[in-house]
Amino acid sequence: MSYCVNCGVELDRDAAACPLCQTPVINPVCPPDPQAIPNFPMERQEVEPVDHRELAILLSAMTVCTGVCCGLLNFVLWRGVPWSLFVVGACAVLWVWLVPPLLLRRAPSAVLLLLDLLAVGGLLVLIGTVLQGSVWLSGIALPVWAGFSLILLTIWMAAKNRSFLSRAMLILGGLALFLVWLEFIIDRFLGTYRPMWSLIAAAVAVTLMLPLAVVRTRPNLRRQVRRRFHF
Ligand SMILES: [Zn+2]
Repeated sequence: MSYCVNCGVELDRDAAACPLCQTPVINPVCPPDPQAIPNFPMERQEVEPVDHRELAILLSAMTVCTGVCCGLLNFVLWRGVPWSLFVVGACAVLWVWLVPPLLLRRAPSAVLLLLDLLAVGGLLVLIGTVLQGSVWLSGIALPVWAGFSLILLTIWMAAKNRSFLSRAMLILGGLALFLVWLEFIIDRFLGTYRPMWSLIAAAVAVTLMLPLAVVRTRPNLRRQVRRRFHF
């Protein structure tokens, strides 16, 4: 076994030069064999870029097939509970999450996020309709979904082109708002609104936001934090 005198890499027995730093190898015990096939490829090959349209067609076929197969099984073999509608709804949500980002490459990310959230809302309405659960659907599910969607979309648009600290502050603020909204909706559904746990969680989030706000306004401190935490 021999090693390159320059960089120390392990060499093939009959190597004429180091494959890494190209330093010529002079080994009287085992002279280089020009006919030998090198142990590594000599040509550089590149991985072909993924065709987004083909991937979109594949994903569409997979989701449609799953939905159609479950629908057939449900309505031909096991009639009764229309469980396949849940699978069809979940497949539709998956399709909206996966395929439009592949096809609408230039669409603003907020539009794609809005589509994703609308798909989830549609699935909730479907589940509520099939299970005839209009009370929990309008009382809890849709208000929570609407609040979550509104806060997420606002954070998404506000966080664009912002620094890491600003984004962290926005996420914490959004989380605090969502928790207060969640408790309000749950309590309103149960009959009495007494804000408790969400205010504690929101206070913790605001307490975490304060040091970030201080760091954000002090360029020196900001530089130090960036250096220490590598961002
Ligand atoms: Zn070398």
